[in-house]
Amino acid sequence: MPKPSKPNDHGHASCVSKAKTRFESHLKSKGKSLGRNDEPILSLLLSNHRAFGAYELVEKLSKMGKRVQAVQVYRSLEKLMELGVVHKLRTKNAFVACFEDEACNSQQFFICDVCDDVSEIQSQKLDNSIQDAARKNDFSVKLPSIEILGICSECATT
Ligand SMILES: [Zn+2]
Ligand SMILES: [Zn+2]
Ligand SMILES: [Zn+2]
Repeated sequence: MPKPSKPNDHGHASCVSKAKTRFESHLKSKGKSLGRNDEPILSLLLSNHRAFGAYELVEKLSKMGKRVQAVQVYRSLEKLMELGVVHKLRTKNAFVACFEDEACNSQQFFICDVCDDVSEIQSQKLDNSIQDAARKNDFSVKLPSIEILGICSECATT
């Protein structure tokens, strides 16, 4: 089944509203308050299933008339990651909104190398294999994160 990777193709509004509801409940349960830049940064990240670099966010915010320093963007991103609604992609040095329904502990991604589109996958099988291998290697896993680079269906057809 082709993955609907671009907004508008797949009713992205419902992805956003689900993610926002989850964000608000995490905010409440962790007793965090919202900083001035948190909401606009989250909204930018939620606008697309795509990875954004911190400096790209700074640029976009300044186009929206908000003067924000990179260090402030990083601070907001840290908080959003702590809340579990944003993930860091180490291979891209970029950030992506989490659109999963539930707690998201594994962070496994397909990342398009052309358009930076990101699909998060939740695979129990992968998790189990990682835990198995970790046991065999006497390794304790902190985050079973996997970043797989490739080309999304959208970019493959154009
Ligand atoms: Zn969506
Ligand atoms: Zn996630
Ligand atoms: Zn792509």
